[in-house]
Amino acid sequence: MDFFCKGCPAYCCYQEDGAVLLITAEDVNRLARFFGLRDGEVRRQYMANRHSLLVKEDRSCIFLVQGATRQRCLVYPARPDQCRSFPHGQPCPYLAARSG
Ligand code: SF4
Ligand code: SF4
Repeated sequence: MDFFCKGCPAYCCYQEDGAVLLITAEDVNRLARFFGLRDGEVRRQYMANRHSLLVKEDRSCIFLVQGATRQRCLVYPARPDQCRSFPHGQPCPYLAARSG
């Protein structure tokens, strides 16, 4: 999810079959500083395993929350690196597939 994604319901924040959002130790530490928690607490509260965030029943990211008008990332300033770089300066593949 990025600033240019206006209007998209954040398809990339849902766990698709075969897709992996890889969480690094740096990502955990950034989230810990954002929440004012220890790294271990972030892992216990928000991670499914060593390298993945929890997802909700609808398979959306634990940090995807409903805002006033659309869903948004609760931890946007501290979002993981993979969320920052996606879709790598390219047209978004999720948006093309879902809206096409
Ligand atoms: S699916 Fe693509 S367009 Fe939609 S929020 Fe994610 S990166 Fe942006
Ligand atoms: S951390 Fe934020 S941008 Fe990344 S998948 Fe979760 S809700 Fe989306």
